[in-house]
Amino acid sequence: MSEPGRLVLVGTPIGNLGDMSPRAVEALGCADVVCCEDTRRTGRLLKHFDVRAPRLLVVNEHTETSVTKEVVDLVAGGRVVAVVSDAGMPGISDPGERLVAAVLEADLPVEVVPGPAAAVAALVLSGLPAGRFVFEGFLPRKGSGRTERLAAVAAERRTVVLYEAPHRLARTLDDLIRLCGPDRRVVLARELTKLHEETIRTSLAEARAVLDEQAPRGEYVVVLDGAPESAEVNDDEIVEAISRLRAAGASNRDAATEVASALGVSRRRVYELATTTGHGA
Ligand code: SAM
Repeated sequence: MSEPGRLVLVGTPIGNLGDMSPRAVEALGCADVVCCEDTRRTGRLLKHFDVRAPRLLVVNEHTETSVTKEVVDLVAGGRVVAVVSDAGMPGISDPGERLVAAVLEADLPVEVVPGPAAAVAALVLSGLPAGRFVFEGFLPRKGSGRTERLAAVAAERRTVVLYEAPHRLARTLDDLIRLCGPDRRVVLARELTKLHEETIRTSLAEARAVLDEQAPRGEYVVVLDGAPESAEVNDDEIVEAISRLRAAGASNRDAATEVASALGVSRRRVYELATTTGHGA
C-alpha cells in the first residue's frame, strides 16, 4: 500500500499579492492536486508565482460534497492535495471545511499554511476589543434565521465580525440600528490591502449616513462593538426598542422576539410592557 499523502490548507492574499507567503508558494508547488473555487483565478495566481500548473480540481459550494470522496482517495493514495479559495483562508466563509472533516475522518493528515483572513485583518485594525470576539460570517439573508441571528449579534457582549456584500450593507446596518440603537460603535473595513482600502470607525447611525453619501463598493468587513455591560435592562429601554421595531414595520410577534433576545429579557416581560404602553402584543 502506498504512503498516505496529506491535505494542505493554503491561505492566499485577500487583495495584495505581496501577502502571499513563501511557504504558500512552496506548498502549491509541491502539491499533486490543488482544489480551488475557480480554475482561472487560481491559474492566474499560480502563474504569477511561477508555480507549474498542477491538476486543478474545482471545489465550490456546489461540488464540495461530490469531490470529497475523490480527495480522500487521493490523499489515501499518497497524493498531496492543497486547498485554496479565491481569497484568504479556505474554510472561512469559503469551501474547505467538509474536505478537512472527511480527511480527518479517514484518519489521514491535514496541515495548514496560514495566510490572510479578512475577518482577522479587520478586527485588529478596528481598534475595538480583540481579546475575545465572535465571527459570524455572512448573516442569513431573510426569514427567522436572519431575525434570530441579528438578535444574537445585537446582544453579544464580545466584538462581532461580519462579512457583508456591498449591496446588502445598508440593510444590515438598518437592522443593527433597530436592534442596537444608533450609537453602538462599528467599523467598516473596506477593500483591505487593496488600492481603495478604507476604514471607517464610527457609530452605526453615522456609518449608515456615509453609505447614503457614497454608495458602497468593493468588499467589506463589519466589526461591531459588543453590547454594553449594563446587566440591568430598564423598562424604558424595552419600550423604546419595541417602538423602533414597530415603527419599522415589524409584527408584534417579531418585535417581541427580537427585543427579548437582543436585551436578554423574557418575552413575557416584553409582551406585558408592550400591552401596558399601548403597543399591543
Ligand atoms: N476566505 C476569505 C477570508 O479568509 O477572509 C473570505 C471569503 S468570503 C467568500 C468573501 C468576503 O470576505 C467578502 O464579501 C468580504 O466580506 C470579506 N473580504 C474578503 N476580502 C476582503 C478585503 N480585501 N477587504 C474587506 N473584506 C474582504
